[in-house]
Parts: sequence; structure tokens; C-alpha cells
Amino acid sequence: DRRPLIAGNWKMNGLRADGTALARDLAGRLAAAGSAGFDLLVCPPATLLHAVGEALAGSGIALGGQDCHAAEKGAHTGDVSAWMLADIGCSHVIVGHSERRHDHGEDDAAVRAKAAAAHKAGLTAIICVGETEAERDAGEAEAVVARQLEGSIPQGADAVDTVIAYEPVWAIGTGRTPTVADIAAMHGMIRRRLHGLVASPDSVRILYGGSMKPGNAAEIMAVADVDGGLVGGASLKADDFWQIALSV
Ligand code: 13P
Repeated sequence: DRRPLIAGNWKMNGLRADGTALARDLAGRLAAAGSAGFDLLVCPPATLLHAVGEALAGSGIALGGQDCHAAEKGAHTGDVSAWMLADIGCSHVIVGHSERRHDHGEDDAAVRAKAAAAHKAGLTAIICVGETEAERDAGEAEAVVARQLEGSIPQGADAVDTVIAYEPVWAIGTGRTPTVADIAAMHGMIRRRLHGLVASPDSVRILYGGSMKPGNAAEIMAVADVDGGLVGGASLKADDFWQIALSV
């Protein structure tokens, strides 16, 4: 009953010509397919939201931001609020990506405040969690992810306004992925932990992210409790992103 979600995180990539061409290409593929058994989302950099949103208009492909501030507005130079994202046509926003946690020192409390703001603005928050390689080597991966879930999910979250993305930090942009057994164990743990943290935990989508490619997407998507993907590098190529979506 969980419809797969394939989300592209473009990160800090793309000028207007690239972003609109990619968006039009994806919209064309979805239109040609007629119907699809998955939801598609692209999360371009903030500078491209307007142009990509126009390129996607009427396509059925959703638009998302990569981060938001916890406040609605105010003296926060360089930041973008969840309400601004909603205003420009976003339905989703990624919060707590490991690159934000690392580059900007965002902790679980900050991520939870951002997710709460997203919910208030009417957006679905894609809350990212995942262990570092040192944490996995120390046998702490599941404990770390459980702690991140408990700290990062706001009160009142449900399956409509919240998506979880499990992204092991050591798998991001490295070409390495956990074994399917390790992914199954982690996603199963996340599903169990969602009980008590969100309403209707069995309906919440849990995405896998980290070096997802056309060549490994099918076996990862086939894992129980993997309800789609959060794709970085491969989402910048229409062929690869579309191939991954067709793997669900
Ligand atoms: P890659 O697919 O490039 O490994 O990135 C994953 C990611 O961080 C998506 O948010």
C-alpha cells in the first residue's frame, strides 16, 4: 500500500539551462509512459526552483527544496523558509541531509525544528538519517540511526507529511552500498522504531539513498521496507534517473 517515491537530490549542481532541460526530459518520459507505479520528485538547488517548477508544470512530477530554515521569515541572511518553498510550488523539502549535518553543524534538534516548520508550511519533510563508516565499524549503526529518528521527527508527524530517507554517509557519492541484508536490517529497524514516533507508521515511506544506480536499484528496491530511493549523482542524468524509477 506504500506507493514508491523516487526522489532526485540535485545538490549544488546545475545552471538554468541544465536544470530545465533535465526537468523537461523527465516530464516527457513520464508523459510517454502514460501511467507509472511510482511518484517522482526532483529537488533542485534553490536558484532553479522557479525555472524547474515551470518546466514541470502539469507533468505530475513533484518539486522539492533541499533544506529550509526553521523560522517562517526574518533576519536570516542566505536562508530560505519552508513557506517560501511552498509559495514557489514545492510540495516537499529534504531536511537533515548528512551534508547539511556535516557542513552546517545541524544536529537532531535543528533537523526536527526544520521538519516541524515544513509541516506547518504544508510541505512533506524528507527526514534523512544514516551512520558514518566509523559508527558502522563500531557496531553502532542501528543505535545511531535510532537516536537520529527519535531526535529528528517532530510531534504529530504522519505518513502524509513525513518520509524517512536512510542514507549511510559512507555510501554517498562513493560507489559503495551496504549489502541487501544490511539494508533490510536497517529499514526493518526504522519501521519498528517509527511505531510510537509517527501516526500510521506502517504507511510511512522509507527511502534508501547512497550510490543508487541503474545497476543496483532493482535489488535495493526489492528489499522489504524500501519504499523508493533518494538519488544524488544518478539523478542528474535523465536516463539513469528514469532507469532507477523503472526498477521499483
Ligand atoms: P549519491 O546518489 O550521489 O550517492 O547521493 C546520495 C544522496 O546523498 C542523496 O541525497
